[in-house]
Amino acid sequence: MSKNRLKYTALLLVAVNLLLVACTEQKKTDEVNVYSSRKEALIKPALEQFTAATGIKVNLVTGKDDALIERLKAEGAASPADVLITVDAGRLYRAKSFGLTQAIESTELSQNIPSSFRDPENHWFGLSLRARPIMYAKDRVNPTNLKNYASLTENQWLGKVCIRSSGNIYNQSLVASMIASIGVKSVETWAKGMVNNFARKPVGGDRDQIKALASGQCDVAVANTYYLFGMLQSGDPEQVEAAEKVGVFFPNQTDRGTHVNVSGIAVTKAAKNKNHAQQLLEFLSRDETQSWYAQINGEYPVKAHIEPHPLLATWGSFKKDSLNLSKLGELNSEAVKIMDRAGWP
Ligand code: FE
Repeated sequence: MSKNRLKYTALLLVAVNLLLVACTEQKKTDEVNVYSSRKEALIKPALEQFTAATGIKVNLVTGKDDALIERLKAEGAASPADVLITVDAGRLYRAKSFGLTQAIESTELSQNIPSSFRDPENHWFGLSLRARPIMYAKDRVNPTNLKNYASLTENQWLGKVCIRSSGNIYNQSLVASMIASIGVKSVETWAKGMVNNFARKPVGGDRDQIKALASGQCDVAVANTYYLFGMLQSGDPEQVEAAEKVGVFFPNQTDRGTHVNVSGIAVTKAAKNKNHAQQLLEFLSRDETQSWYAQINGEYPVKAHIEPHPLLATWGSFKKDSLNLSKLGELNSEAVKIMDRAGWP
């Protein structure tokens, strides 16, 4: 082999090597790592659509809400996660206050997601909306006797109210929303009145409160809308039969509106693929994805002009509390203290 040929071969090898490195780098950056607490079926198809549209691969890790936040904390800057998907603004606020998220400045996100459903500093964004209305036993309750959350403490509901424990963030966020509306003192009186009216010691999740309405253990309950939707759509005759006995009453229609909350998304502080993460957030906020997301999970879209599932439409439209949901996080510890003092298990 001539000297020149050797030189060319060496150069060629270097070039091939550089190309390989470049390709690996390219491959490495063409992905986004998601930690999600949503059931895989509720989010995976949307992530697959994102990959089809952008070529960016999504690696999905599914886990429990609080466990994923603990995991992000433990992993710190070394965390492989770029994106966190979780439920409840109180929890998103918590992730932010632990320093696990970062601000994303995106005109598209600001335009697509109403300001009350996102963090004022753009650390998290609501993806879907859930209401937490009053539900009632259709055969025993005339909904004209219902008015607002406060009315659940009236004498007529003595021993007839079902609601889950105070350890659950949905109730903490509901109570936080009430503090924002009527203040600590009134909410404390309310919480005591609720405990006084309990049909039983809080047990189980929202679905169990709905079942308790159907079985006659209580007449009124508070639960998130998508649980009733899930039971009605379950295909399980027992669940369908129970859910059909239950009506939905949207409280506080003459004042602040019914308490709503979000499932949401944030880019992690540790994100190595921030650009791709932002693209994913924007994709999920678009009309097409919002429409699909609302149909599959039985929640309300965060964008008012997107139609919810027809089943939700049968419960009627309602006025939503317009409180900025980051308040639910700010007032969380106060809410927990109030329920504690009221003896709400
Ligand atoms: Fe839930």
